[in-house]
Amino acid sequence: MTIPARAPKSARRPAGSVRWASWLFVPWLILGTVLVSIQGWPDGPVPAARAVLYDLHLSARRALLLASVKEMSTAETRRFVVHYEAADASWVPVILECADGSWEAVARRLGWTPLTAEGERVHIIIYPDPAPLERQFGPEAGFRALGAYWCGVIQLLSPRVWLSPEPSTGSARAFWAEGPFVHEYTHYVLDRLIPYGNYPRWLSEGLAQYVEHKETGYVWLDETNTIRPPVREAGLYRLIDLQRSFDRLPNTALAYRQAFLLVAYLEDTVGWSGINDLLRRLARLERFEEALQAVTGLTLSELEENWLEWLDLSLGWESGGRPTGKEGPAN
Ligand SMILES: [Zn+2]
Repeated sequence: MTIPARAPKSARRPAGSVRWASWLFVPWLILGTVLVSIQGWPDGPVPAARAVLYDLHLSARRALLLASVKEMSTAETRRFVVHYEAADASWVPVILECADGSWEAVARRLGWTPLTAEGERVHIIIYPDPAPLERQFGPEAGFRALGAYWCGVIQLLSPRVWLSPEPSTGSARAFWAEGPFVHEYTHYVLDRLIPYGNYPRWLSEGLAQYVEHKETGYVWLDETNTIRPPVREAGLYRLIDLQRSFDRLPNTALAYRQAFLLVAYLEDTVGWSGINDLLRRLARLERFEEALQAVTGLTLSELEENWLEWLDLSLGWESGGRPTGKEGPAN
């Protein structure tokens, strides 16, 4: 999920439909949903079996999603394949250029790229109107998303809708800076690096926003999530709430802002090498608290205390700042 959109509403439905054969995936969906929701299995006797079932579950859901867009046109590079409607054809080269730039940028930040098999590509769906993304986030989301990552697929609202009818000089740079691609691709890489979602949701959203900010300069900051010192009186969510129920917290913007600032704190204290170490430990199925302790020497509550102290001093410079990325399009 990402940044509040500026797109007008549309009543059009997405192209394509799920065909009857797709219902063959339903048993996998049900079984997978039950199995992947069982907490603590990484420490159980059959983590490999769970990994296989998790992958099957994701594959089934990804197949359903891709079946719904099979009538769309496609174009591809060595790493990405984009599904699009004819009305968005002129934007496809711009999106693929940004996709390849994101590949390089996220690899540099996280020190890792997905080990795709020969011929395997990352799927991108360009929706011609906001309806499919609106349905995924629900009417109570409080923002309009320009993109989403789900089950291995990056979904985008066409920049024709929210940026300009046709690309022109400067459009690649504008899409890079204002669009959600770096953010969503970071989710994809994290999902591929760490088996069956062995990371807290706040870490995924914090990292996606932080990499996006460092590469493009974008930061989600508005009246509903602006934090002012003294931070202990600012009505912040407790870290344990972010850890346990990130997606159910009523002020989504504030939860995202705190996640961003937690990753900013990690980068300031242990650097990208520490963040990469944390991710690799999670990829080896260490519990988050154990990995955090190994990398930072802190428990979860100590992290919260130290972060709050740091936040009181750091809100000024970490509220915005300039991007330091090098891989974005030149124009
Ligand atoms: Zn996100």
